[in-house]
Amino acid sequence: MSKYIFVCGGVMSSVGKGVATASIGKILQARGYSVSLVKCDMYVNIDAGTIRPTEHGEVFVGEDGIEADQDLGTYERFTDQVSTAAHYLTTGQVYAEVIRRERNLEYDGEDVEVVPDIPNEIIRRIGNVTQKDKSDFLVIEIGGTVGEYQNVLFLEAARMMKLKLKNDVLFVLVSYLPIPGKVGEMKTKPTQYASRTLNSIGIQADFILCRSEHPIDDKRREKLALFCNIEPDAAISAPDVDNVYDVPVNFIKDNLDTKILDKFGLSPRESDLQEWIACTDKIRRLKKQVKIGIVGKYFNTGEFTLADSYISVIESIKHASWSLGFMPEISWLNSETYEKNPRSLAELSHYQGIIVPGGFGARGVEGKIKAIEYCRKNKIPFLGLCYGLQLAVVECARNVCGLKGAHTTEVDPRTAYPVIHTLPEQEINIKEKRLGGSMRLGAYDCELKSGTKSFSAYGTSLVSERHRHRYEVNNEYREILEKNGMVIAGIHPERNLVEIIELKNHPFFVGTQFHPEFKSRPLRPHPLFRAFLRAAGRVTRREH
Ligand code: GLN
Repeated sequence: MSKYIFVCGGVMSSVGKGVATASIGKILQARGYSVSLVKCDMYVNIDAGTIRPTEHGEVFVGEDGIEADQDLGTYERFTDQVSTAAHYLTTGQVYAEVIRRERNLEYDGEDVEVVPDIPNEIIRRIGNVTQKDKSDFLVIEIGGTVGEYQNVLFLEAARMMKLKLKNDVLFVLVSYLPIPGKVGEMKTKPTQYASRTLNSIGIQADFILCRSEHPIDDKRREKLALFCNIEPDAAISAPDVDNVYDVPVNFIKDNLDTKILDKFGLSPRESDLQEWIACTDKIRRLKKQVKIGIVGKYFNTGEFTLADSYISVIESIKHASWSLGFMPEISWLNSETYEKNPRSLAELSHYQGIIVPGGFGARGVEGKIKAIEYCRKNKIPFLGLCYGLQLAVVECARNVCGLKGAHTTEVDPRTAYPVIHTLPEQEINIKEKRLGGSMRLGAYDCELKSGTKSFSAYGTSLVSERHRHRYEVNNEYREILEKNGMVIAGIHPERNLVEIIELKNHPFFVGTQFHPEFKSRPLRPHPLFRAFLRAAGRVTRREH
């Protein structure tokens, strides 16, 4: 019998509900229980693939090609469990399925109603995860905050599940306790209101995770206990942290793992979080810095969402740096400035490594190409991810092979040298405007060429990596690229597609058509990020 833990948010968003959900998964897993993590998103979008990353964060890609909310990336990094389409629910998916069934007369002439048919479909989908994964625990995060109109049907589904499975369902409210500057003390009232709002939809929180600048004290625990109907020790301290991977460790300090098991009447097995704790301790002691620049275009929406747009890339840099004994210092470099003012390109030499991450469309592309050229010529370690690979190919074609005006057809459909183009099946998608969920998505094999940097980084000849792109390297140009110093270090064997490129005579110049960042874990950094950071680390040593 699976147990269900619903995680919902109170007071405001962006207080780390995803990290809290992932951490709950982690601490239960550390106690020897299997967990599945599920995200319910309130958007009508079928998936996150059509949502702008600057507003909603990165689109995380699962093994099976699901384009999901970035929280699924957090879940994977914490629990090392692979996410699939089943682990990601949106309002859009739920309605689409109910309407599809109605069109098939599957409701036997009954009228189809928002309640209970929509919550029932949500419950059915959660049941699918239970059936497939057979996990001891399903930790289900409900997007948004309580009191919003948009997520109410997910909460209704959770309430209905509690009614049916009384002893197998519990609720965690992740709430914010502000410490107003002038007042200087932690206030519980907004959380009291959030708890009451939850009560008004028929749900009683079992635990309240008290997100705040500081740990919660006993006086406020008592207050929350009295006004929110919980035991004082069910108010769990969740202070701000410098490193998100500390959160499970903090939860354990407050015995959240044993408290949850206790509520379900399960006996605690010995906790195995030693390696994780050792890693977080080590991170605190790191002093040596490594300076990495990310050249992108999503720069005008403010620092916070910016970091979210590239979260898997940032985390991958951290994992690899930590494992090599570095503390990374990451800077955002706006490619559009290099277009307006090419002299500013010289700033790239302040960094030990440059990453050009994934991207779409024409804006800022010429600046990225200039940055790549600068890295090539000045031997700055370079890692190009997806669009980063494609633009490195464009740069090499134009500036090394002499193919003037070479481009990707994404930006210039009429270029004389379409070095990056679409495969026939994608052309049809574009023509017929079938653009949602139709890119080359999910895990594909990549065969590595021996003697390359990538081969020695992975230490094996066949790997599998996740993709999200519509365009590809045009095989007609492979020969001329290779003649001019480009190495095709990895191909997808079934269709002979270029997956990795490298440059000869460069300390580290690697581009991947896939997104290695989706598979990096804190205790298992991605080999290519590690190789890139190792090369970047050498730049420090040369300078000193
Ligand atoms: N825009 C490019 C494509 O669609 C690259 C996508 C990406 O970087 N994820 O192929």
